[in-house]
Amino acid sequence: MSDARRSALPRPETIVVSAGRPPHVPGAPFNEPVTFASAFVAGGELEYARYGNPSWTALEEALGALEGGECVSFASGMAAVSAVIHLVPVGGAVVVARHSYQHTLALLDDGARSGRFEVRRVDIADADAVEAALPGAAMVWLESPTNPALELADIPRLAAAARAAGVLSVVDNTFASPLLQRPLEHGADLVVHSATKLIAGHSDVVLGAVVTGRDDLAERIRHHRGLHGAIPGPMEAFLTLRGLRTLSVRLERAEANARELARRLADAPGVVEVRDPGFGTVLAMVLADAAAADRVVDRVRLWVSATSLGGVESTLERRRRWATEAPTIPEGLIRMSVGIEHVDDLADDLLAALG
Ligand SMILES: *Cc1c(COP(=O)(O)O)cnc(C)c1O
Repeated sequence: MSDARRSALPRPETIVVSAGRPPHVPGAPFNEPVTFASAFVAGGELEYARYGNPSWTALEEALGALEGGECVSFASGMAAVSAVIHLVPVGGAVVVARHSYQHTLALLDDGARSGRFEVRRVDIADADAVEAALPGAAMVWLESPTNPALELADIPRLAAAARAAGVLSVVDNTFASPLLQRPLEHGADLVVHSATKLIAGHSDVVLGAVVTGRDDLAERIRHHRGLHGAIPGPMEAFLTLRGLRTLSVRLERAEANARELARRLADAPGVVEVRDPGFGTVLAMVLADAAAADRVVDRVRLWVSATSLGGVESTLERRRRWATEAPTIPEGLIRMSVGIEHVDDLADDLLAALG
């Protein structure tokens, strides 16, 4: 290989297509097949399937290459979240974005209630406030953009502050995906994904992942998975990798649709505010109250009224319909996950429902 070729590392758009494939051997499948197995013949690298499966390995190679670290896949995003939170020692403290994914907050509250650790909720967009909460903490949990407020965190600044304070920094990168944001490159210690969302991308699989640039942390996370057993199914790993192959083109269309919809909704009747983080595929619009928002959700025909996000199909929901949603989220806020349909059809449907 020439020096020029060696130094030209593949770009992320190429990694999503090319990473995690078997060697190019004539006659062999060039996609890693699904391996249904609970045990492997003794004497090899794999012995028991709670500790490894070739279908996970292919996906982990691809996600690890994308985020720039070592990937450990899990049965769900929450299993990945839980494994990372388990790194917090008894008596430690966790600094967390107050508008984080609500079940991450619930899991942290559970830990606090049972006396395992302390939780400090902060406004993640206020970097001074986050830094002020770091001393003595064991972990800072960043989400950016946040769900569903769509606030942004200054990841490089907060990761550096955390490192200086001896605090582990974690970024839930579900909303951005590794094509739009690579927190490890900005100094974060760990990245968490609900691959259920953008990475798998077709609303047909639940899977999670942790990626870290630190060998010691990767080892502890893998150990946790083996002991706690929240392992992905081989079929789910296969589907997630198949979904990942098109992430770049799906994002291109969905992001363009999201920016265009934000523009068209800004002066639409009844819309008080549009929240657009400026990248990614999730938007929010705020209507006058819960009743106005519920009416829109009931009236859309093409948009699907559903929770979750990141699929090829556009979905929306009024977030405060969940009793557990943060009271700081407006009653009339509708979160929208923008898909890859034609933007005119998406806009027509919303405007008709608003009108
Ligand atoms: C969905 C989601 C999770 C949880 O992932 P699951 O795959 O549903 O377990 C965690 N964080 C964010 C930001 C999410 O959107």
